[in-house]
Amino acid sequence: MFRKILIANRGEVALRIIRACEELGIKSVAIYSEADAKSLYVKKADEAYLIPGDPIRAYLDYVRIVDLAKSVGADAIHPGYGFLAENADFARYCISKGITFIGPSPEHIELFGDKVKAKRKMAELGIPTIPGSPEPLKNYEDALHYAREIGFPVILKSAYGGGGRGMRVVRSEEELPRLFESGYREAETFFGKGDLFVEKYLDNPKHIEVQIIGDKYGNVVHLGERDCSVQRKHQKIIEITPCPVLPNSIRNKMLGLSVRAMMQVGYESAGTLEFLVDLKTGQFYFIEMNTRLQVEHTITEMVTGIDIVETMIRVAMGEPLPFTQNEITFRGYAMEFRINAEDPRRNFAPAPGKITAYYSPGGPGVRMDAGVYKDYVIPPYYDSMIAKLSVWALTWERLLARGKRAIDEFIVRGVPTNIPLHRQIIRDPDFRSGYFGIRFLEEKLPTYN
Ligand code: ADP
Repeated sequence: MFRKILIANRGEVALRIIRACEELGIKSVAIYSEADAKSLYVKKADEAYLIPGDPIRAYLDYVRIVDLAKSVGADAIHPGYGFLAENADFARYCISKGITFIGPSPEHIELFGDKVKAKRKMAELGIPTIPGSPEPLKNYEDALHYAREIGFPVILKSAYGGGGRGMRVVRSEEELPRLFESGYREAETFFGKGDLFVEKYLDNPKHIEVQIIGDKYGNVVHLGERDCSVQRKHQKIIEITPCPVLPNSIRNKMLGLSVRAMMQVGYESAGTLEFLVDLKTGQFYFIEMNTRLQVEHTITEMVTGIDIVETMIRVAMGEPLPFTQNEITFRGYAMEFRINAEDPRRNFAPAPGKITAYYSPGGPGVRMDAGVYKDYVIPPYYDSMIAKLSVWALTWERLLARGKRAIDEFIVRGVPTNIPLHRQIIRDPDFRSGYFGIRFLEEKLPTYN
């Protein structure tokens, strides 16, 4: 068993990993920037070390982080999500210094971090992918060539990106020059590399993703799927498992193909294969793979009873998966609400500041993952997500009732949040029907008050 794990992250996910360590009898080491000195996870960790200087660099300076891990006697590092989680050089550096990286191999991080290569690999493994350019686009002429070949509408996407950055939906040839230019610039700002690729834009599909986990011995299982179609600006707002309207025939095919592909590549640790699904035709298409713990892993934990963070730690230590596919059971439905500190009157701009009142929901089937408390001051440097409310119930109907009850109980004052938006979504008949696609929220927003 590891004796000590350093967590190269902050906020609610740092706390999530500390909780797993505590239950496993492993000492936890937190790192924090000056801006995070008063964060909950810093208080909860067994040890915490300040990384002075730039508040963002504190969580990205991996040489410094790995050196710290060595000097405090940590055996392993858990990267959480975001920051260094999908940085293959970081994983490699950990290994070179004798620190276990809790995640997949650097080769897999690298392969799936390149979206164009990842699509090609998945196609080779028999998974359907969306028609698109076979390489990142060299220039505008290249973009035009492939866009014409595929046919408008198309979507430009950052080859190495995430969080919807650099993404542009292009409806006609006239729009292409401007959107190519602005997408490239945004990708360059966020990822250091502006490379874009282009693919067919699907009309309001569902975003459905498959959670998988594997060990060092070639065992891979799936933990079901999640419907992440409720999005704003290509960012998830609510996730649900299982998808209440997905026909079993499609589900089983997606889950089966995902597990088989991951077995073929020998994938270790937790990972998520993201698909777009056209419910009208029953077609599904792989879009990307995330080689890390995901924000929405909580709902999968609720329906399976499996602790995904614990399982990541165990397989990193060299233990075989503690369950076979047949031993995994799925019970009921779960839904996660991402609570963001953002101002709906200012186009959902991040709204840092002091929380003056905080009452989180409770009662049956409610799980809270939050990094904040009353009088906490949300720093302006990071992601605006301050809490995750996850809810479980035996049936979809009951989940809707419980989700509504729980989100109505949630009170945060001092900063604006998207809680009022969640209250509208959970009451929306189109949401409740389950038959909504990725455009659902953008179309509804103007009709909400
Ligand atoms: P990121 O890594 O930036 O999050 P993804 O490839 O995961 O990018 O896509 C994020 C979201 O963008 C998807 O959930 C979907 O809403 C939208 N999207 C991506 N590709 C397409 C496509 N080909 N057609 C329609 N929507 C898409």
